[in-house]
This record gives sequence, C-alpha cells and structure tokens, in this order.
Amino acid sequence: MSKVRLEYIWMDGHKPTQKLRSKTKVMEGIIDSLEDIPDWGFDGSSTNQAEGNNSDCLLKPVCKVPDPIRGGHDLLVLCEVMNADGTVHSSNSRAELRKVSEKFKDQKAWFGIEQEYTLFDGRNPLGWPEGGYPAPQGPFYCGVGADEVYGRDIVEEHLQLCIDAGLEISGINAEVMPGQWEYQIGPLSPLESGDQMWLSRWLLYRIAEDYGVSATLHPKPIKGDWNGAGAHTNFSTRFMREEGGLKVIKDACEKLSKNHDEHIAVYGAHNEERLTGLHETCSIKEFRYAVSDRGASIRIPMQTANDGFGYLEDRRPSANMDPYQVCAILIKTTCG
Ligand code: ADP
Ligand code: MN
Ligand code: MN
Ligand code: MN
Repeated sequence: MSKVRLEYIWMDGHKPTQKLRSKTKVMEGIIDSLEDIPDWGFDGSSTNQAEGNNSDCLLKPVCKVPDPIRGGHDLLVLCEVMNADGTVHSSNSRAELRKVSEKFKDQKAWFGIEQEYTLFDGRNPLGWPEGGYPAPQGPFYCGVGADEVYGRDIVEEHLQLCIDAGLEISGINAEVMPGQWEYQIGPLSPLESGDQMWLSRWLLYRIAEDYGVSATLHPKPIKGDWNGAGAHTNFSTRFMREEGGLKVIKDACEKLSKNHDEHIAVYGAHNEERLTGLHETCSIKEFRYAVSDRGASIRIPMQTANDGFGYLEDRRPSANMDPYQVCAILIKTTCG
C-alpha cells in the first residue's frame, strides 16, 4: 500500500501572539474523511503549552485540505489543541468560536478577511536597499515593475497554493509599503473563515521558506512614515445582507462603539503602533464609523450604502490578530 503524509498544524502558546507549529505523520493508504485521521500528541513544554513534568498535549484534527506543496494524496490537517484528558486547552481559541457560532447560527454570519503581510529578507523588507530606505510611499500600492514591487514570485505561488488547497481566496494586491502585500479569504462562515486564515498563513510561511524569505504579520514592521499591516475584517449577518440591512449595520456599529476596548484587547498585539490616526487608520483611542471612510474604525462600503444592505468593514484588527477571537467577539457584540 502507498504512504501518505499528513501535516498536522496547530497554534502554539507563544505570547503575546500565537505562532503556528506543524509536524508530519506518515500513514498507509488514502485518507478520505476527517474521522479517519487519528488524534496525535506533542511536547507542550516546547511550545509554551505545558510544564516539563506533565508535557503531553493532544492534537485533535478539525479540518483537512489537500497539501498543495507535496501534492498527491497528502493532506494539511488543522488541529485544535486539547489537554491530555481531552478538555479544551487554554490556548485553544477555536473552541470558543465553535460555541459562539453554534449559538448564533441562525444569523448566518459571513467573514471576509484581508490579510496584509510584509516579506523580509534578513533584517530588511524584501527589495529595500541594505541599511537604507526606498523612495517614499506612493507608487507601490497595486504597482507593477521591478522598481515598484518585490516578491511577486512568492505572492503568485502562494495564491496558486491557496487555490489548489481549496481555500476561498478572493484576491491579492501589492500594498502601500514596498515589500508589503495582501490577500483576501472569504466570505465564509465563522469557523471556515478562521480555519482557512490559519491554513493560508501556514502556506505563506512555508512557501516563503523556499525563497529564503520570511513573512511577518507584525502590525508595524517599520517605524515611521510607512504603512502598518492590518487584517480588515468584513462582516455581515443575513439581516445585514437583506433589504433594510443598512439599519442593522448601523445598529451593529452603535453596539461596537460601546465595546471598543474589549475588541481592541483581542485585535492583535502592538496594534497601538499601527492605529495612530495616520496611514488610513483611526486612532486606537477613538471609535468612528462612516460610509467610505478609510480613516474610520468601521467603514460602511459605498456599495452597501447605495444598495441599502450588505456588510461592514472593521478596519481595527491588526495583521497578527487571531481570526477565531475576532470573529467570536464580532458575533457576540453585534448579535447578542
Ligand atoms: P478593500 O476595498 O477594503 O481593499 P477587499 O476587496 O480587499 O476590500 O476585501 C473585501 C472582502 O470583503 C473580500 O474578502 C470579500 O470576500 C468580503 N466580502 C464581500 N461581501 C461580504 C459580505 N457580505 N460579508 C462579509 N464579507 C464580504
Ligand atoms: Mn483590501
Ligand atoms: Mn490593504
Ligand atoms: Mn479593506
């Protein structure tokens, strides 16, 4: 019988921002369903998820997609981390979103997340002159040409890998700061959105490896007059998408205005460096929502305002946010 390789992927206990870990299991034959993928374990004392004297953590497979890098019948297997006794581990934020999305499933929430990231070659953003700076921002956003954008080969390969893995990637673009890029995943249900965001991030780190380049989700990778990196979270419920939805969206914005600090607390570490009020952001100390305003906390897209229904864009989450936590709190605040 032939062998298949299963790449088990999970979120570690790194603070303040969890990182991805993965390891490979070789199995016999072809795996068709999630139920046929066994639980596995790892050494939690090496991932900040356990003490050395009681270090076993459990990997519970929750989502599988074709492994577009290895190909064939190989799989990527996203896992939730459990304690050895099968209870939910404290680092497992997916478990909370499972509960929240089940409780509010009638709302049929959708999320479309814009993931910005920065490619680094050693200590410099990719394409930047050694020890110096490129020309000021302006020409790079959605640019073309070797003097405008850096790393397109990696970005294109990542896009193809996401498509081959069956992820709902909906676009890519070069960003305002040279070496910075974006892709979008969605719209998808809450759990699908979170799972696909984490899988797409794993694919990004993994494929950049082959180029000797690292991708970072730091919200302000270069201090000063350079754009930060966010993860704008586009969100709608079925009532927002129906006739009269604009009113539901505005009511949601009012609820969000009363819970700004609770949201900021789970919108990513070091976000205060990014949400300054400059570079198409609203200050972290303020909350504003408005139609078409890229300087607001929440933007109501022009199309949504014109149609009278649609979705809202929460521009506050930083690139390094955990989509499980962001989706959960958006549902809890606006649907409760
Ligand atoms: P921007 O103009 O802010 O750069 P993008 O085109 O990068 O917007 O991203 C918009 C995202 O919104 C896409 O991921 C898209 O799938 C998502 N989206 C579109 N409609 C909805 C909806 N009704 N609910 C949630 N997300 C949506
Ligand atoms: Mn975008
Ligand atoms: Mn962007
Ligand atoms: Mn956006």
